[in-house]
Amino acid sequence: MQNLRKYFPIFTLKREQPFIYFDNAATSQKPQSVIDAVSRFYSFSNANMNRGLYSLGEKTTEAYEFVRFKTARFLNAVSSSEIIFTHGTTDGINTVVYSWGEYNIGKGDEIVISQLEHHSNFVPWQQLAKRKGALLKIIPVDRYGVLDLSSLDDLVTEKTKLIAVAHVSNALGIYNDLKTIIASAKKVGARVCVDGAQAAPFEALDVQDLGCDFYAFSGHKMLAPTGVGVLYIGRSVQKECIPHVTGGGMVHEVSDTESTFLSSPTCFEAGTPPIAQVIGFGAALDFLSQNDLQEIKKHCIALTKKTITGLQKLKKIRILGPVEDLKESGHLVSFMIDGMHAHDVATYLDRYGICVRAGHHCAQPL
Ligand code: PMP
Repeated sequence: MQNLRKYFPIFTLKREQPFIYFDNAATSQKPQSVIDAVSRFYSFSNANMNRGLYSLGEKTTEAYEFVRFKTARFLNAVSSSEIIFTHGTTDGINTVVYSWGEYNIGKGDEIVISQLEHHSNFVPWQQLAKRKGALLKIIPVDRYGVLDLSSLDDLVTEKTKLIAVAHVSNALGIYNDLKTIIASAKKVGARVCVDGAQAAPFEALDVQDLGCDFYAFSGHKMLAPTGVGVLYIGRSVQKECIPHVTGGGMVHEVSDTESTFLSSPTCFEAGTPPIAQVIGFGAALDFLSQNDLQEIKKHCIALTKKTITGLQKLKKIRILGPVEDLKESGHLVSFMIDGMHAHDVATYLDRYGICVRAGHHCAQPL
């Protein structure tokens, strides 16, 4: 793997102390090409899109739509119309809840989620179930934190309308067996919403092969600016969705009493979108594709193996999750030190310029 650090200004800055950044699962650092793309847009081509009938505005629309096209390719979506730009994973999942869940989940229906979900893919479904009088069912985990899919046949029933599950756990780095989960949803005609926040930065994604209906992720965890994310809404489920954010840019016609909406993706992107961030996201996709995602993933797995092997030599450290599997396929390491609070560990490591995430990782049920 070539030395990629040189492309990231934050890593090339001369400092008095080392800067060791282990918090990429929370947000990744940004390469110069992404920073430049955002800066170039604001410096030389800033204009709103889908509005001005002048060339600068048209160029902005073209640049934005080209990123949508690249994103569709990145996900192997059938069409760009399945790609909605959001503000991030949380926003994407809430779009599914309010545009689809609100109209397709009713009293007595069942929603299946898992024990290891990030709060972003837990709380919105929990609250929807409460509002609607639906039942929230939770796929349990085994003693290593791996989803216990032996319970799936009991959990998923004719009443199941949706399964919401993470592709990769942000707390333990475990890849979930999406194929099995999605197959069980399809058997009963349930929709599937995947939280891809921790998978999109590493995976050659293929939403057609997966067969999910919704797939949400954040740009900022994969080298792009904050404030932009992606929600894939498959064509077959689009007709079941009603945009929950209404206003400018998403309407076909408005009268005093009625409004008609444009089709997807425009109807899901009311108001001025995060244009500069989307353009930065396009540059991040270019960076990832120029550097071969497979190679990046292999490198991360090698680093994970090295980290786990090193930590295993230290007394009092307990590594969480299915450790031997994570060595072969993970890109995230969670550990505890007996007798020390996680926040104290993080504060102590910070003295050495080491940045780690500490706490419940927004996954309290786990
Ligand atoms: N889901 C997972 C698995 C995550 O790791 C995160 C971010 N930690 C989120 C959802 C939420 O992402 P965002 O804050 O960008 O909306």
